[in-house]
Amino acid sequence: MDFKMLDKIVTNYANDNENNFAIKNSSEVMPMCEKVIKEPFVPVIEDKWSRTFNLNESINYIYNFLKSIDEELTVRFINIIKAVDENNQPYVNFIPRQDNLTSDSRLENGKVYIYYDNSPKEMLLILHEVLHKLNECPVIDEENNSYTSFTREYLGETVSITGEMFLSNYLYEQGIITGNDLTILKNWRLNADKEHARNVIVDNELLRLKLSGEAITKENIYKLINSYDKGSPYYPILLDELHDLRRTTSILKNGELNLRKSQKYVIGQVLAENLSQQNNIADFIELHNEVGNPDSDIVEVVRNIREKHRTL
Ligand SMILES: [Zn+2]
Repeated sequence: MDFKMLDKIVTNYANDNENNFAIKNSSEVMPMCEKVIKEPFVPVIEDKWSRTFNLNESINYIYNFLKSIDEELTVRFINIIKAVDENNQPYVNFIPRQDNLTSDSRLENGKVYIYYDNSPKEMLLILHEVLHKLNECPVIDEENNSYTSFTREYLGETVSITGEMFLSNYLYEQGIITGNDLTILKNWRLNADKEHARNVIVDNELLRLKLSGEAITKENIYKLINSYDKGSPYYPILLDELHDLRRTTSILKNGELNLRKSQKYVIGQVLAENLSQQNNIADFIELHNEVGNPDSDIVEVVRNIREKHRTL
Protein backbone atom coordinates (compact mmCIF):
# COMPACT_ATOMS: atom_id res chain seq x y z
CA MET A 1 0.00 0.00 0.00
CA ASP A 2 1.38 3.34 -1.09
CA PHE A 3 0.53 5.38 2.01
CA LYS A 4 2.50 8.38 0.69
CA MET A 5 0.27 8.56 -2.37
CA LEU A 6 -2.82 8.05 -0.22
CA ASP A 7 -1.69 10.93 2.00
CA LYS A 8 -1.29 13.13 -1.07
CA ILE A 9 -4.76 12.30 -2.42
CA VAL A 10 -6.43 12.93 0.95
CA THR A 11 -4.47 16.19 1.38
CA ASN A 12 -5.57 17.42 -2.05
CA TYR A 13 -9.16 16.53 -1.29
CA ALA A 14 -9.10 18.30 2.09
CA ASN A 15 -7.54 21.42 0.55
CA ASP A 16 -10.03 21.76 -2.30
CA ASN A 17 -12.77 24.22 -1.29
CA GLU A 18 -15.23 22.43 -3.55
CA ASN A 19 -15.24 19.56 -1.05
CA ASN A 20 -16.14 21.69 1.96
CA PHE A 21 -19.81 20.81 1.69
CA ALA A 22 -19.16 17.07 1.52
CA ILE A 23 -16.65 17.21 4.40
CA LYS A 24 -19.03 19.20 6.61
CA ASN A 25 -21.91 16.98 5.57
CA SER A 26 -20.08 13.92 6.84
CA SER A 27 -20.90 14.72 10.45
CA GLU A 28 -24.60 14.54 9.51
CA VAL A 29 -24.16 11.39 7.45
CA MET A 30 -22.08 9.44 10.01
CA PRO A 31 -25.08 8.60 12.25
CA MET A 32 -26.88 7.40 9.10
CA CYS A 33 -23.85 5.23 8.24
CA GLU A 34 -24.03 3.66 11.70
CA LYS A 35 -27.70 2.92 11.16
CA VAL A 36 -27.07 1.25 7.79
CA ILE A 37 -24.08 -0.72 9.10
CA LYS A 38 -26.08 -2.05 12.06
CA GLU A 39 -29.13 -3.02 10.04
CA PRO A 40 -29.35 -6.83 9.86
CA PHE A 41 -29.91 -8.80 6.69
CA VAL A 42 -33.04 -10.92 6.64
CA PRO A 43 -32.10 -14.58 6.08
CA VAL A 44 -33.12 -15.89 2.66
CA ILE A 45 -34.70 -19.31 2.33
CA GLU A 46 -33.26 -19.95 -1.10
CA ASP A 47 -30.77 -17.76 -2.94
CA LYS A 48 -32.67 -18.06 -6.19
CA TRP A 49 -35.43 -16.05 -7.93
CA SER A 50 -38.82 -17.71 -8.05
CA ARG A 51 -39.24 -16.80 -11.73
CA THR A 52 -37.98 -14.63 -14.58
CA PHE A 53 -39.63 -11.74 -16.39
CA ASN A 54 -39.17 -10.84 -20.00
CA LEU A 55 -38.68 -7.18 -20.83
CA ASN A 56 -42.29 -6.55 -21.86
CA GLU A 57 -43.61 -8.11 -18.69
CA SER A 58 -41.23 -6.03 -16.60
CA ILE A 59 -42.22 -2.77 -18.29
CA ASN A 60 -45.89 -3.69 -17.90
CA TYR A 61 -45.54 -4.37 -14.19
CA ILE A 62 -43.68 -1.08 -13.66
CA TYR A 63 -46.42 0.66 -15.64
CA ASN A 64 -49.15 -0.92 -13.47
CA PHE A 65 -47.28 0.03 -10.32
CA LEU A 66 -46.86 3.66 -11.41
CA LYS A 67 -50.50 3.78 -12.48
CA SER A 68 -51.45 2.78 -8.94
CA ILE A 69 -49.56 5.76 -7.47
CA ASP A 70 -49.36 8.67 -9.92
CA GLU A 71 -50.89 9.34 -13.33
CA GLU A 72 -48.40 11.98 -14.48
CA LEU A 73 -45.38 9.85 -13.59
CA THR A 74 -46.94 6.92 -15.48
CA VAL A 75 -47.34 8.98 -18.66
CA ARG A 76 -43.81 10.36 -18.39
CA PHE A 77 -42.41 6.87 -17.82
CA ILE A 78 -44.04 5.43 -20.92
CA ASN A 79 -43.15 8.47 -23.04
CA ILE A 80 -39.46 8.33 -22.17
CA ILE A 81 -39.29 4.57 -22.83
CA LYS A 82 -40.64 5.21 -26.34
CA ALA A 83 -38.78 8.47 -27.01
CA VAL A 84 -35.99 8.82 -29.57
CA ASP A 85 -33.50 11.65 -30.10
CA GLU A 86 -32.88 13.67 -33.29
CA ASN A 87 -30.83 10.75 -34.67
CA ASN A 88 -33.65 8.31 -34.03
CA GLN A 89 -31.73 6.73 -31.14
CA PRO A 90 -33.76 5.73 -28.07
CA TYR A 91 -33.26 7.52 -24.74
CA VAL A 92 -33.67 4.27 -22.86
CA ASN A 93 -31.53 1.40 -24.15
CA PHE A 94 -32.07 -2.20 -23.11
CA ILE A 95 -29.01 -4.38 -23.58
CA PRO A 96 -29.11 -8.12 -22.83
CA ARG A 97 -26.74 -8.84 -19.96
CA GLN A 98 -24.07 -11.43 -20.66
CA ASP A 99 -22.10 -13.11 -17.92
CA ASN A 100 -18.87 -11.54 -19.05
CA LEU A 101 -20.43 -8.11 -19.25
CA THR A 102 -19.97 -6.26 -16.01
CA SER A 103 -21.27 -2.79 -16.94
CA ASP A 104 -23.70 -1.26 -14.51
CA SER A 105 -27.09 0.06 -15.60
CA ARG A 106 -26.80 3.83 -15.61
CA LEU A 107 -27.81 7.25 -16.88
CA GLU A 108 -25.00 8.72 -18.96
CA ASN A 109 -25.05 11.85 -21.10
CA GLY A 110 -28.82 11.93 -21.09
CA LYS A 111 -29.22 8.29 -22.12
CA VAL A 112 -30.29 5.38 -19.93
CA TYR A 113 -28.55 2.02 -20.38
CA ILE A 114 -30.18 -1.01 -18.77
CA TYR A 115 -28.30 -4.30 -18.79
CA TYR A 116 -31.11 -6.77 -18.73
CA ASP A 117 -31.15 -10.39 -17.47
CA ASN A 118 -34.88 -11.05 -16.86
CA SER A 119 -34.58 -11.07 -13.06
CA PRO A 120 -36.88 -9.17 -10.67
CA LYS A 121 -33.84 -7.03 -9.77
CA GLU A 122 -33.76 -5.68 -13.31
CA MET A 123 -37.29 -4.36 -12.90
CA LEU A 124 -36.05 -2.27 -9.99
CA LEU A 125 -33.07 -1.07 -12.00
CA ILE A 126 -35.26 0.03 -14.90
CA LEU A 127 -37.36 2.16 -12.56
CA HIS A 128 -34.24 3.40 -10.71
CA GLU A 129 -32.47 4.66 -13.84
CA VAL A 130 -35.61 5.98 -15.54
CA LEU A 131 -36.43 8.01 -12.41
CA HIS A 132 -32.94 9.54 -12.67
CA LYS A 133 -33.75 10.41 -16.29
CA LEU A 134 -37.16 11.88 -15.40
CA ASN A 135 -35.77 14.19 -12.72
CA GLU A 136 -32.72 15.19 -14.73
CA CYS A 137 -32.49 18.98 -14.56
CA PRO A 138 -29.22 20.62 -15.53
CA VAL A 139 -28.77 24.07 -14.04
CA ILE A 140 -27.23 26.44 -16.61
CA ASP A 141 -25.08 29.30 -15.30
CA GLU A 142 -24.26 32.65 -17.03
CA GLU A 143 -21.27 31.12 -18.79
CA ASN A 144 -23.46 28.36 -20.19
CA ASN A 145 -21.93 25.67 -18.01
CA SER A 146 -24.39 23.04 -16.97
CA TYR A 147 -24.23 21.38 -13.58
CA THR A 148 -26.43 19.43 -11.19
CA SER A 149 -28.37 21.18 -8.43
CA PHE A 150 -27.38 20.31 -4.84
CA THR A 151 -30.86 18.89 -4.28
CA ARG A 152 -30.49 16.43 -7.15
CA GLU A 153 -26.85 15.68 -6.35
CA TYR A 154 -27.67 14.70 -2.78
CA LEU A 155 -31.24 13.41 -3.00
CA GLY A 156 -31.46 11.91 -6.50
CA GLU A 157 -30.45 8.47 -5.21
CA THR A 158 -33.05 8.77 -2.46
CA VAL A 159 -35.81 9.13 -5.07
CA SER A 160 -34.57 6.18 -7.13
CA ILE A 161 -34.01 3.90 -4.12
CA THR A 162 -37.44 4.82 -2.70
CA GLY A 163 -38.96 3.96 -6.08
CA GLU A 164 -37.24 0.55 -5.95
CA MET A 165 -38.61 -0.14 -2.47
CA PHE A 166 -42.17 0.86 -3.35
CA LEU A 167 -42.05 -1.22 -6.53
CA SER A 168 -40.72 -4.33 -4.78
CA ASN A 169 -43.39 -4.05 -2.06
CA TYR A 170 -46.05 -3.65 -4.77
CA LEU A 171 -44.80 -6.71 -6.69
CA TYR A 172 -44.93 -8.75 -3.50
CA GLU A 173 -48.38 -7.50 -2.48
CA GLN A 174 -49.72 -8.31 -5.95
CA GLY A 175 -48.33 -11.85 -5.75
CA ILE A 176 -45.97 -11.22 -8.68
CA ILE A 177 -42.85 -12.03 -6.68
CA THR A 178 -42.52 -14.20 -3.56
CA GLY A 179 -41.56 -13.15 -0.04
CA ASN A 180 -38.19 -14.77 -0.64
CA ASP A 181 -37.70 -12.68 -3.82
CA LEU A 182 -38.56 -9.58 -1.79
CA THR A 183 -35.96 -10.53 0.83
CA ILE A 184 -33.30 -11.06 -1.84
CA LEU A 185 -34.11 -7.62 -3.28
CA LYS A 186 -33.94 -5.91 0.11
CA ASN A 187 -30.67 -7.58 1.01
CA TRP A 188 -29.16 -6.72 -2.37
CA ARG A 189 -29.87 -3.01 -1.90
CA LEU A 190 -28.84 -3.05 1.77
CA ASN A 191 -25.59 -4.85 0.94
CA ALA A 192 -24.66 -2.22 -1.67
CA ASP A 193 -25.47 0.63 0.71
CA LYS A 194 -23.60 -0.96 3.61
CA GLU A 195 -20.53 -0.80 1.37
CA HIS A 196 -21.20 2.89 0.70
CA ALA A 197 -21.56 3.46 4.46
CA ARG A 198 -18.22 1.72 4.99
CA ASN A 199 -16.67 3.98 2.32
CA VAL A 200 -17.98 7.13 4.01
CA ILE A 201 -16.64 5.96 7.39
CA VAL A 202 -13.16 5.16 6.00
CA ASP A 203 -13.00 8.40 4.00
CA ASN A 204 -14.16 10.40 6.98
CA GLU A 205 -11.50 8.89 9.23
CA LEU A 206 -8.75 9.55 6.69
CA LEU A 207 -9.90 13.16 6.40
CA ARG A 208 -10.14 13.52 10.17
CA LEU A 209 -6.56 12.30 10.51
CA LYS A 210 -5.38 14.71 7.85
CA LEU A 211 -7.34 17.70 9.14
CA SER A 212 -5.87 17.15 12.61
CA GLY A 213 -2.44 17.70 11.06
CA GLU A 214 -1.29 14.06 11.04
CA ALA A 215 0.19 12.24 8.07
CA ILE A 216 -1.61 9.19 6.73
CA THR A 217 0.60 6.28 7.67
CA LYS A 218 -0.15 2.75 8.77
CA GLU A 219 0.97 3.59 12.32
CA ASN A 220 -1.30 6.64 12.53
CA ILE A 221 -4.26 4.63 11.25
CA TYR A 222 -3.59 2.02 13.95
CA LYS A 223 -3.44 4.78 16.54
CA LEU A 224 -6.76 6.10 15.26
CA ILE A 225 -8.37 2.67 15.44
CA ASN A 226 -7.15 2.15 18.97
CA SER A 227 -8.62 5.48 20.00
CA TYR A 228 -12.04 3.88 19.52
CA ASP A 229 -13.77 1.73 22.06
CA LYS A 230 -13.95 -1.89 20.86
CA GLY A 231 -17.74 -1.67 21.00
CA SER A 232 -17.82 1.28 18.58
CA PRO A 233 -19.21 0.43 15.13
CA TYR A 234 -16.17 2.15 13.62
CA TYR A 235 -13.68 -0.15 15.30
CA PRO A 236 -14.37 -3.35 13.29
CA ILE A 237 -14.79 -1.41 10.04
CA LEU A 238 -11.44 0.34 10.32
CA LEU A 239 -9.73 -2.86 11.38
CA ASP A 240 -11.29 -4.69 8.44
CA GLU A 241 -10.09 -1.93 6.11
CA LEU A 242 -6.54 -2.26 7.39
CA HIS A 243 -6.71 -5.98 6.62
CA ASP A 244 -8.15 -5.93 3.12
CA LEU A 245 -7.48 -2.27 2.18
CA ARG A 246 -10.38 -2.37 -0.28
CA ARG A 247 -11.49 1.23 0.12
CA THR A 248 -7.96 2.64 0.18
CA THR A 249 -7.00 0.56 -2.87
CA SER A 250 -9.98 1.99 -4.73
CA ILE A 251 -9.01 5.55 -3.68
CA LEU A 252 -5.49 4.97 -5.03
CA LYS A 253 -6.86 3.46 -8.24
CA ASN A 254 -9.22 6.39 -8.86
CA GLY A 255 -6.70 8.97 -7.68
CA GLU A 256 -9.36 10.66 -5.57
CA LEU A 257 -11.79 10.37 -2.70
CA ASN A 258 -15.41 10.30 -3.75
CA LEU A 259 -17.11 11.08 -0.50
CA ARG A 260 -20.13 12.67 -2.11
CA LYS A 261 -20.99 9.61 -4.16
CA SER A 262 -21.07 7.28 -1.17
CA GLN A 263 -22.87 9.80 1.04
CA LYS A 264 -25.82 10.05 -1.31
CA TYR A 265 -26.47 6.29 -1.28
CA VAL A 266 -26.33 6.21 2.52
CA ILE A 267 -28.79 9.13 2.72
CA GLY A 268 -30.89 7.31 0.11
CA GLN A 269 -31.01 4.04 2.04
CA VAL A 270 -32.07 5.71 5.31
CA LEU A 271 -34.65 8.07 3.79
CA ALA A 272 -36.06 5.48 1.39
CA GLU A 273 -36.62 2.98 4.18
CA ASN A 274 -38.42 5.65 6.13
CA LEU A 275 -40.65 6.64 3.22
CA SER A 276 -41.41 3.08 2.18
CA GLN A 277 -42.17 1.91 5.74
CA GLN A 278 -44.72 4.70 6.02
CA ASN A 279 -45.92 3.94 2.49
CA ASN A 280 -45.62 7.69 1.95
CA ILE A 281 -46.33 8.05 -1.77
CA ALA A 282 -47.11 11.78 -1.57
CA ASP A 283 -43.70 12.61 -0.06
CA PHE A 284 -42.01 10.40 -2.64
CA ILE A 285 -43.66 12.24 -5.55
CA GLU A 286 -42.94 15.61 -3.92
CA LEU A 287 -39.26 14.72 -3.46
CA HIS A 288 -39.03 13.51 -7.06
CA ASN A 289 -40.43 16.89 -8.20
CA GLU A 290 -38.02 18.83 -5.95
CA VAL A 291 -35.07 16.83 -7.27
CA GLY A 292 -36.25 17.64 -10.79
CA ASN A 293 -36.58 21.36 -10.05
CA PRO A 294 -33.41 23.30 -11.00
CA ASP A 295 -34.33 26.14 -8.59
CA SER A 296 -34.89 23.85 -5.65
CA ASP A 297 -33.22 24.92 -2.39
CA ILE A 298 -31.69 21.91 -0.66
CA VAL A 299 -31.75 23.57 2.79
CA GLU A 300 -35.50 24.09 2.44
CA VAL A 301 -36.04 20.53 1.17
CA VAL A 302 -34.02 18.97 4.00
CA ARG A 303 -35.83 21.13 6.60
CA ASN A 304 -39.13 19.95 5.15
CA ILE A 305 -38.11 16.28 5.29
CA ARG A 306 -36.88 16.65 8.89
CA GLU A 307 -40.15 18.25 9.99
CA LYS A 308 -42.13 15.41 8.51
CA HIS A 309 -39.83 12.61 9.62
CA ARG A 310 -38.82 13.41 13.16
CA THR A 311 -36.88 10.19 13.61
CA LEU A 312 -34.27 11.19 11.01
ZN1 LIG B 1 -28.79 5.80 -8.99
